[in-house]
Amino acid sequence: MSTHVLPTFDEVTSRYEPVIGLETHVELGTQTKMFCGCPTVFGADPNTQVCPVCLGLPGSLPVANRAAIEATIRIGLALNCSIATWCRFARKNYFYPDMPKNFQISQYDEPLCTDGYLDVEVDGELVRIGIERVHLEEDTGKSLHVGGATGRIHGATESLVDYNRAGIPLVEIVTKPVPGLGARAPEVAKAYVAELRDVIRALGVSDVRMEQGSMRCDVNTSLNKPGEEWGTRTETKNVNSLRSVERSVRSEMLRQAAVLDAGGTITQETRHFHEDTGDTTSGRSKETATDYRYFPEPDLVPLAPEPAWVEQLKAALPELPRAHRARLKAEWSLSDLDMQSILNAGAVELIERTVAAGASPEAARKWWLGELSRKANADGVELESVGATPAQVAQLQSLVESGKLTDKLARQVLEGVLAGEGDPEQIMAARGLEVVSDTGALTAAIDEAIAANPAVADKIRAGNHAAAGVIIGAVMKTTKGQADAKTVRELVLARLS
Ligand SMILES: [Zn+2]
Repeated sequence: MSTHVLPTFDEVTSRYEPVIGLETHVELGTQTKMFCGCPTVFGADPNTQVCPVCLGLPGSLPVANRAAIEATIRIGLALNCSIATWCRFARKNYFYPDMPKNFQISQYDEPLCTDGYLDVEVDGELVRIGIERVHLEEDTGKSLHVGGATGRIHGATESLVDYNRAGIPLVEIVTKPVPGLGARAPEVAKAYVAELRDVIRALGVSDVRMEQGSMRCDVNTSLNKPGEEWGTRTETKNVNSLRSVERSVRSEMLRQAAVLDAGGTITQETRHFHEDTGDTTSGRSKETATDYRYFPEPDLVPLAPEPAWVEQLKAALPELPRAHRARLKAEWSLSDLDMQSILNAGAVELIERTVAAGASPEAARKWWLGELSRKANADGVELESVGATPAQVAQLQSLVESGKLTDKLARQVLEGVLAGEGDPEQIMAARGLEVVSDTGALTAAIDEAIAANPAVADKIRAGNHAAAGVIIGAVMKTTKGQADAKTVRELVLARLS
């Protein structure tokens, strides 16, 4: 354990330059596994989606999944990579209880996609992140350690293995080292992972759910003094939320600076990130490539994607997130600042879906960035988990526009939606929140208010329209705030003119 005093982040970035690199694993959403026909449904009973191939039984032979290869090429194309015209799978040899073959079929020196980039927007500025490679491999099974406090193997009394995940196609996307970011390194790391997630989601090849592990990130961080060689890097494994990506870079920068300040050296190792404390702790010393005894997989034929097929896939790529956002910004007539606040709130897709459900972009933006963002912040949840759907927001807005709800009543209905009471129309009916638009009822309330305030009524008759507030207030009170104040005002003035 390090007992060094942590410097502040500003002190770190005034003395050191960080270099970061990210390795992201994405589970593809194919129907079947990478090298066999087993299904890939999430959450099935343990060891029910297995066969001799993914259990590594002697004599079984793998066959590559075309859909997975296609998905990987599309990811490579979306990341501006070159696609290999010929490449091979390789065996990565190591023992792991959840990997029954004792090797993983991966790609080593012949990845499917190489040398691309992803442009990432950070505070309105574009940062280009180089992509070293995108390759295809198979996932391992899952070990479950029972009896310990942490779920880790230390302290466990027994371990169980589930091979359902063994052999699910996994794409690994590796960035080139990114120097020169200074204090922005944590933020850029997070923005990169967010953008990568959005690109992959747009391609429709994975559900990219970080919290379910279908997208996970290893974050490499090193520090060096300005003008000196890059420092020794550490690799923080399996970081599984955007916020944690940012925090893990930051905490590793602070930790390494403290070690270096005290004259120590950084050990090349993997580290674990702890959500609760935001710290990393030492894992195992990092293997080098030679430890894995890579060699070309002899049971599989080489991959040689037809250039014409690759061209076809390239031409059919969907609109990617950055272009998509630029189009929405124009369609919604937003300023840079407006668009930025929508992005920061994570509201782009929610607003888009609310508009698709019939609301105007302005109204959709008002709800999601107003009441709903406040509620999400107060509850400490993401906006998409706040408890209202785009369809409900669109319905609420249409009730306002048709005059059935005032803004004030609409906010009460929204409270009902967030409390899980149903759709806006149901809540309006159940809570009796509809605007009183029955002219008979309104006229009676107005007559009553005028009779109770004869002096005020005389002033209005004499042309003092500002005095109408007293009568309107009385009517609103009688109708429990459910009359439209503007309508009441018009009716009062018409009556007393
Ligand atoms: Zn199988």
